[in-house]
Formats: sequence, structure tokens, C-alpha cells
Amino acid sequence: MPQYDYDLFVIGAGSGGVRAARLAAMTGARVGVAEEHEVGGTCVVRGCIPKKFMVYASDFAHEFKVAKSYGWHVDARFDWREFLTAKDIEIARLSGVYTANLTKAGAELFHERATLIEPHCIRLANSGRTVSADKILIATGGRPWKPAELPGVEHAITSEEAFHLHELPKRMVIAGGGYIAVEFAGIFAGLGVETTLVYRGANILRGFDDDVREHLTEQIERRGVRVILGKTWDAIEKTDTGLLNRLTDGLEIESDEVMFATGRNAYTKDLGLDAAGVELRATGAVKVDEYSRTNVEHIWAIGDVTDRMNLTPVAIREAIAFVETAFKNNPSKFDYDCVPTAVFSQPPVGTVGLTEAEARKTFGPVDIYLSKFRPQKVTLTRIDERVLMKLVVDPHNQKILGAHIVGPEAAEMIQMAAIAVKAGITKQQWDATCALHPTVAEEMVTLRERYIPPELAAAE
Ligand code: FAD
Repeated sequence: MPQYDYDLFVIGAGSGGVRAARLAAMTGARVGVAEEHEVGGTCVVRGCIPKKFMVYASDFAHEFKVAKSYGWHVDARFDWREFLTAKDIEIARLSGVYTANLTKAGAELFHERATLIEPHCIRLANSGRTVSADKILIATGGRPWKPAELPGVEHAITSEEAFHLHELPKRMVIAGGGYIAVEFAGIFAGLGVETTLVYRGANILRGFDDDVREHLTEQIERRGVRVILGKTWDAIEKTDTGLLNRLTDGLEIESDEVMFATGRNAYTKDLGLDAAGVELRATGAVKVDEYSRTNVEHIWAIGDVTDRMNLTPVAIREAIAFVETAFKNNPSKFDYDCVPTAVFSQPPVGTVGLTEAEARKTFGPVDIYLSKFRPQKVTLTRIDERVLMKLVVDPHNQKILGAHIVGPEAAEMIQMAAIAVKAGITKQQWDATCALHPTVAEEMVTLRERYIPPELAAAE
């Protein structure tokens, strides 16, 4: 049997790579990990965690508005630099914790870029060392994408730079309609930036429930985001006073920054996957089977680089399944059904299971339970904020197929609701749960009347 330097070599120490390396090392395997930037990867360094700090920072502005109607007089001033410093200190601490956990588990960490040069061989860029491994795990994540052919695109930033802007801009234009675009629009608008969201499609958050999309658009507009749909860019031009965004149909918007959140690509460039014979999908993502194994027997891939469901908890679960399969003789695959997701917009969205459209496509007619209401907290104010709650139910067996919330703490609520939806409970079992009063969440278990959209109700 050939002797390798490592039993496992992991390329990329992000959410998936760190978990896989740590768990594999804990089985006694000899594990090496390479990371070309900071340990922790996208989520910790330029994704979920810094983004959530920005959402918290931004949301205070709304809270101060609410507070006024409760008798508070707050003389608030936001210091962007102070915030960035506090955020960066915490991100560095977290990255340190991830590093310590890796090495404590016995994995050997290389702070450098790794590329494959042969099916079992990896070259480390800085030291020039070549190491060999019995098994290799690709966990290199994704990178933001900008349309290279757009004139002036070099003036546009992506989410990566948005975390480190030298100054808070006065005017921001964001391109995209996905969750990252919507979240950053909320962040900047909350921080007092004149914010415009431009999306080429008919509505934001493609793939989410249509009622959620419509409701959220209204809500973010009320919080000050200007939403422009059905437009793209002709060019971005630098002017004396900022950037001129030339949109289709002659619309022009001046801004200080323009951020493209128009998608992310699997990060497989120059990784040497061809040298190892690893096949890619047409999108450039690594092609894997349901056990995260590539077409090459000993090479595996997890997380965003496989472009299955690009979320941190999913990358982690894929890592756990990989270690069970490859190191514990317990073939395991992750079940992608009913993964809860959130959009940390303001207000946020929480969703689990099928949208109404998906459910109709699969099951035919479905029962809908829907409520829109003003949450108690804003009833002392003049703020016209509405919560949306929606359940999609299979009329044949009353199983809850999907739950969707737009409103304060939607993400926290949906994490709990996901337990019930994942367990496959019926609407009757759901309703048997007594309400907890007074909460926003209680509305979820008191949705008794089937919802008929006004246009259908008129026809009945
Ligand atoms: P990553 O975490 O991207 O890790 C890959 C690592 O590999 C990186 O550190 C990279 O530097 C390293 N690397 C790449 N190539 C090499 C190489 N050749 N050699 C050495 N190192 C290499 N998900 C959520 O669940 N919730 C959220 O709220 C959320 N918010 C997000 C917000 C933003 C702005 C972004 C961009 C993403 C967000 N995500 C969120 C998605 C989440 O961050 C990813 O799904 C997750 O980080 C994927 O983990 P991963 O291990 O696949 O890759």
C-alpha cells in the first residue's frame, strides 16, 4: 500500500473544511489543511457573521424610532469606523478560535494556497512543498461574480469590499435581487445611506414564496429602500461627484458606491482539478454524488464549491456526513429536505419547506393559511409595519408543506417551526399547540381560516 504524508488533506478552511478536518483528526487520522486567507472562510470572515453584525448595527436606527413612541429620547450618532473596528476585532477572535480548534484536534494547518498537481499530490504555494494524501477534500467555497463585460464594472464593489468600506457612503446602489443584495440594501438604508436596489427580474428573492416576495418589497420600501425592477446596467461612469449608473431605458442614478450582488461562482479556478481528473458541472461547480464524492474515488468535495445549497449549516452537515462515510465506515448523506433559511433583511424573512407555487406544482391544489397584521411593538408608533405569516398545507393529508414568515424575529421563529415541518406534522397537530400570548409567533398557531386570495374570493 502506498505511503502518504496524510490520510486526509483538506483544501480550504471555511465552514465545511474546518468541520471535516477537525472531525477526521479526532478519529486519529493524520490531517493537513490549507487556507490561503483567514481560517473560518466566507461565513466567519466575509459572510454570515460580519453581515449579521452589520444588520444589528443598522437595525438600531429603527429601534430608536420605535423607542421615541415609548417615551425615550435618544440622541443617536453612528460612527462607521468605530463599528468596523469592533466588528474586525471579533472576527479576528473567531478566526483564532477556529484555528485553535483545528490544531487542538490534531490537524496540521498550512497558511497558504494549495493546488492539486496529481490525483494524490498537492502543492503548497508559499513553501513550494509538495505533500501527498490518501484522501483529498475540496472545500474552497465560492467567490462573488461581476459582469466582466459591463463598461465601468471596475468601479463596482462586491460584498467582500462592503465589509471594509473606508467611509460610509451617502448614496449606494446595489445590483441584484438575491438575499445578499436585499440584506445589504437593508443594512445601508438603516444606516442612513440613500439606498437603491436594482434588479433585472420582476421581483426580488426569486425562488421564495410569491407572497413573501411581494410583502417584503413593500416593507423594505417603507424602510427607505428604493426598489427598481426590470432594469440592468448599460455602464458605470466615474464623475467628479461620484459614480453615474447608466441603467437600461435611459435611467440614470448617481451614487457614491455601487455594489454588485449578482451571484457567486464555485471557486475552482486554477485549483488543478484537471490535473487530478476531477469533473466539473457546466456551472464550474465540482460534480459530486450524494455522498459528496467526485468522479475520482479518493477526492471529495463539500460546501459552496459543489453549489448544492450554499449555506453554512449545510456545508457543516455535508462535512459531518463525509467524515462518517470516509473515516467511520458509516455511509451517510445529508437530507436537503426542509432546510430552514432566512433573509436578514429589515424586516427579516424566515422560510422552511415548499413555497405555494412549488407545492401546487407537486401536489396540485393546496390549502393556504395566511395572515398580515401589525406587530404589537409598533402599535404605539406611526410606523406602518406588517408581519406576514403563511402556511402551505397538503389538503389530502393535512401535512404542513411550508411555513413562511416576514417580520421581526422571523429567522428565530422559523428555526423552531422547522422542527415541526421537518417532522412532517399535520395542521391539526400544529393547531393543537396552545398559543403563547402576547407574541408575534402566536399568530402561527391560530391561523384557522383557509385563505382565498381576493381575486379568487370575488369569483366564488
Ligand atoms: P468557505 O466558507 O467559502 O470556505 C472556503 C475557504 O477556502 C476560504 O477560506 C478560502 O480562502 C479557502 N480557499 C479557497 N481556495 C483555496 C486554495 N486553493 N488553497 C487554500 N485555501 C483556499 N450562509 C448562511 O447559512 N447564513 C447566512 O446568513 C449567510 N450569509 C452570507 C452572507 C454573505 C455576504 C455571503 C457571501 C455568504 C453568506 N452565507 C450565509 C453563505 C456561507 O457563507 C457559505 O455557504 C459558507 O461559508 C460555505 O462554506 P464552505 O466551507 O463551502 O466555503
